[in-house]
Amino acid sequence: MSPGKKEPHITPLHGAGGELMGELLERLILPRFGEGTVGRIGLKALDDGATIALPEGEKGELVLTTDSHVVKPIFFPGGDIGRLAAAGTINDLAVMGARPIALTLAAIIEEGFPITDLERILESLAATLAEVGAPVACGDTKVMPSGDVDGIVLNTTGLGIAARAISDADLRPGDRVLLTGTIGDHGMALLAAREEFQLKTRLESDVAPIWPLIAPVVELGDAVHAMKDPTRGGLAAALNEMARKSGACIEIQEPAIPMREPTVGLSELLGISPLDVANEGKAIVVVAPEAADEALNRLRAHPLGADAAIVGTVTDEHPKRVVLDTEVGGRRFLDMPLGDPVPRIC
Ligand code: MG
Repeated sequence: MSPGKKEPHITPLHGAGGELMGELLERLILPRFGEGTVGRIGLKALDDGATIALPEGEKGELVLTTDSHVVKPIFFPGGDIGRLAAAGTINDLAVMGARPIALTLAAIIEEGFPITDLERILESLAATLAEVGAPVACGDTKVMPSGDVDGIVLNTTGLGIAARAISDADLRPGDRVLLTGTIGDHGMALLAAREEFQLKTRLESDVAPIWPLIAPVVELGDAVHAMKDPTRGGLAAALNEMARKSGACIEIQEPAIPMREPTVGLSELLGISPLDVANEGKAIVVVAPEAADEALNRLRAHPLGADAAIVGTVTDEHPKRVVLDTEVGGRRFLDMPLGDPVPRIC
């Protein structure tokens, strides 16, 4: 990437802590995030950190999570690295049962990166955060010499508050397993968008912040036993992790897994299972059997949960394994994938 004449570009000085970096923060960051504060000292103060006040009278647990985002391409069908960096961290909080209260944002940018692209990314990140009402509380900017980083890397750390944080390990025999929507869309949309494939499909990533979808389910309290967002490694990795941690067996009815037709079509074409690739706007929700219908109703009441379904049951048949009841009436183990078949997916 080499700086052109007309368009302003990121230079090493933009990450060097001086005037130019200050100007970048003043012009791009503070107008979008400067009013966000959750304590006495907020982002606007550009201090060394931000203070966090617990909401008045609120009891519970603070939840902290962090994620770095290296997705390629940075603009993809259905989203971009900005929306992903917000949703990825919000969703990790959401599946802990935590309402997001503030995020940090760290950007590592390659010298020569177009500032208009940076603005688009920040605008998208701000719009995504606005969907859940969580501000950026503090941040950091670094610029790397051309070639030392591929375009842009964003790290977000999220702080949330939960009445009782929900783990991904407390599965019990008899529990029902729900999915909040269609599976495989992010990974397959990314694959379709990669230059090496040049596929013309209508596939879009599902990237979205799911706290507004999950919050009504969290209100079911103790009936919610476990949650997890199936990101890298997809549904297969997430279910296997849950089964291993809890020692339980998860039995899934394959025909009940919601999937979009273009996602299935592309997966067959490429020979990559939609169950192995990342989702960025979905959750696995495990609830006590008597709460399953109510949880499903609450999920379906939100637009992001329109395709929610009950897809399985927790048993003690094969401890630490995931069993798939297939379309044709057979049964097989759904194994932990070696890794996500799509690199730089999030
Ligand atoms: Mg997660």
